[in-house]
Amino acid sequence: MDNQLMDKLVSLCKRRGYVFPGSEIYGGLANTWDFGPLGVELKNNIKKFWWQTMVWQRDDVVGLDSSIIMNPKVWEASGHVSNFSDPLIDCKNCKSRFRADELMAGKYGDISMKDGKTSCPLCGGELTESRKFNMMFKTFVGPMEDSSSLIYLRPETAQGIFNNFKQVLNVSRKKIPFGIAQIGKAFRNEITPGNFIFRTLEFEQMEMEFFVKPDSDRRWYNYWVSERFDWYLKLGLKKENIRKRPHEKNELAHYAKACTDIEYSFPFASLGEDGRPWGELEGIANRTDYDLSNHMEHSGKDLNYFDEINKASFLPYVIEPSAGMDRMTLAVLIDAYHEEKDENGEIRIVLKINPKIAPIKVAILPLVKNKENIVKLSQKLYQSLRSEFMVDYDEIGSIGRRYRRQDEAGTPYCLTVDFDSLEDKAVTLRDRDTMKQERINISEINDWLRDKLK
Ligand code: ATP
Repeated sequence: MDNQLMDKLVSLCKRRGYVFPGSEIYGGLANTWDFGPLGVELKNNIKKFWWQTMVWQRDDVVGLDSSIIMNPKVWEASGHVSNFSDPLIDCKNCKSRFRADELMAGKYGDISMKDGKTSCPLCGGELTESRKFNMMFKTFVGPMEDSSSLIYLRPETAQGIFNNFKQVLNVSRKKIPFGIAQIGKAFRNEITPGNFIFRTLEFEQMEMEFFVKPDSDRRWYNYWVSERFDWYLKLGLKKENIRKRPHEKNELAHYAKACTDIEYSFPFASLGEDGRPWGELEGIANRTDYDLSNHMEHSGKDLNYFDEINKASFLPYVIEPSAGMDRMTLAVLIDAYHEEKDENGEIRIVLKINPKIAPIKVAILPLVKNKENIVKLSQKLYQSLRSEFMVDYDEIGSIGRRYRRQDEAGTPYCLTVDFDSLEDKAVTLRDRDTMKQERINISEINDWLRDKLK
């Protein structure tokens, strides 16, 4: 994989309606992107798959949808007001802005040392001292713009879960160990380059806080690291492109006792020790009782859990798998991107997305658009499938071109209705990955598809 791949992918995403640059008619806005008709389907399918695994198929996890805007005290208690910052350094000459840690690591090029002072890797100019830059977006509630009305857009969904811990516990009547899952938007005032949808100002997180007995934290931590890794395989990512990376002690967040990242080999990411580029998809952290104890202290509310069996109260520890929806979508797209030679020696671009999460499941292609019987039969098939599946109907251009369009969109199956269909009540089923074609009876299609997408 190379960086050229990213250019091709960004262009395909725009061409086919996966991802568009944000606010494009006004010249765009850095690090913002919009998801088009196919992008929103893909994201919804991935979210649904996560939700099914994390909530529906488990007895010990329930869902939540908490608000983005919260009482600002939440962010004081969580440590975000004082700690959620990047160290920044500016060049006094060319005004470039760098993250201090990345600058020192040589990410922007070689830095020279003059009289013990580092100089700008871009122009050699003098650099400012490093200073903290809080990454939370601020705004105001109501008409007054003063400190009493200051609020933040949440930089993570997790705090909404901690705030609702007691209420969810009571209504769900769960016993520890149990978890609360949430999918929602988070906002971060990122200053380093975004790399398409890898790092954006506004993104979706899929987080689950799993509350456990303090002495069982290691076991549950290991359990979730392995569960979550396996989930990415089920999502369809190639095993050789993902890995687990336990954090070194010195890179752990202030609240974490242990953390393992699940990383994907994003072509633009920094090189790992194995010489391959790796970037974070998801972090699984042992957050201990850091959050609950801080909220208990700041809110004055008792957040202890009462253990009926031992008749004792304790503050649970928390294991948190925290995944980035947009990064996951990007990994799926990169993993799926293929260029191969077709039977005529021409390059075929195809997105080999796992059919279960592919935006369009099947495309109905009437061989000709001006034969009433064929159109009628095609429309009937279209209507019978669309109540259950996301279906596309395409009658424009040659069949070959239509197949190529669906290949680029990642549509796993195409159904071509031809003259024979009027007689044999069957259509040609064409497989995206193998390009093999076979006849299938119209009456069997629903069951066949259901089975494939199970
Ligand atoms: P990074 O080191 O890349 O900034 P992080 O360690 O700060 O990420 P977390 O706070 O652990 O990230 O957030 C959990 C997940 O949310 C990340 O694994 C990532 O997938 C996603 N995420 C975080 N920041 C962004 C962003 N700016 N844009 C898109 N996704 C993000």
